[in-house]
Amino acid sequence: MKQNYTHVNCPECTNAQTVIPFYYGLPTIDQILKAKASSIALGNSGLWPERPTHTCTSCLVEFNLKGITGEWINPFSNSSNKEAVAA
Ligand SMILES: [Zn+2]
Repeated sequence: MKQNYTHVNCPECTNAQTVIPFYYGLPTIDQILKAKASSIALGNSGLWPERPTHTCTSCLVEFNLKGITGEWINPFSNSSNKEAVAA
């Protein structure tokens, strides 16, 4: 089954351009840089069934196919922690 993540619409603002997928698991440096640039969001390693699959960078809501699951806390939104990803 083919999934096209670029056409997932935000349940809040219905915008697809602001939606980014969650990446679960141990991120690579490349994925951390992508997360810093807000092109993906890093989920934690928990594989709970109701976990969000996407987040909207505009509304900051996390959601999955069933609907909104919570508020997205972007770990890179605070510019004071930018040295945290400097390897
Ligand atoms: Zn939105």
